[in-house]
Amino acid sequence: APAAVTPRPLRVLAIANQKGGVGKTTTAINLGTALAAIGERVLIVDLDPQGNASTGLGIDRHQRRLSTYEVLAGEADLAEAVQATAVPRLSVAPSTMDLLGLEMEMASAPDRATRLRRVLAPLAEAPGSEPFSYVLIDCPPSLNLLTLNALAAADAVLVPLQCEFFALEGLSQLLRTVEQIKTALNPRLTIQGIVLTMFDPRNNLSSQVVADVREFMGDKVYETMIPRNVRVSEAPSHGKPVLLYDLKCAGSQAYLRLASELIQREGRLPAAA
Ligand code: ADP
Ligand code: MG
Repeated sequence: APAAVTPRPLRVLAIANQKGGVGKTTTAINLGTALAAIGERVLIVDLDPQGNASTGLGIDRHQRRLSTYEVLAGEADLAEAVQATAVPRLSVAPSTMDLLGLEMEMASAPDRATRLRRVLAPLAEAPGSEPFSYVLIDCPPSLNLLTLNALAAADAVLVPLQCEFFALEGLSQLLRTVEQIKTALNPRLTIQGIVLTMFDPRNNLSSQVVADVREFMGDKVYETMIPRNVRVSEAPSHGKPVLLYDLKCAGSQAYLRLASELIQREGRLPAAA
């Protein structure tokens, strides 16, 4: 008989920042791909009505019959919405514009902030034959009920921060929200880390922001910075993670380094690929 496989414990990370355009979706897709490439089994949960993570992973709109909307509305099981991607070991629960209406529909439901937590719980409790080791939740660009669901469901928050002037201002607000969720809904929630994105070494402001963020947040800030790289921005229009589109480019290499730094930081042994 085959040896019993001990499932790796599930880690649920919310990729959150209430500012749009800071690299949340790009990080969800490419960190997810890099983790899968080193042997982790990864589920990306698309919680943004824009559905950019779904599109960027090659799941067209007409392929999204069941989405995170139906799952959170209680009309479908998570497993029914999950789809494989072109990346081995990487799956996605896609989103649709229907999510826009969910906030109103859930407004008076007592469990409105903990729906996602309930939906994800079985992944950890009854992991199945091919258990996920990471769930990455791609949050919308706002501190709305969807983001609150992500923070209530997560073990930790990963914050992409664009190297630009107002970066720290938005971060303080996000940290306050995390503290509130900790107190009210999810005592185990921590800040997993801050990832500096779209770094441009030729830009003095970019370097100054990096220095300020490192001073303010200390070792919460990842060593790895994601450079501004045109290949990263081209990849989604091909429905591919940048690691599939151009593995050698600086953006792909940075996301691979980020994945191994994340595994180290979490104190986990590398999975056997
Ligand atoms: P968010 O999900 O926070 O709104 P996105 O991940 O969608 O942000 O990124 C915003 C835009 O910036 C997208 O067009 C994306 O392709 C681009 N982008 C993200 N990261 C990089 C990068 N490292 N280099 C170049 N463009 C990037
Ligand atoms: Mg996004």
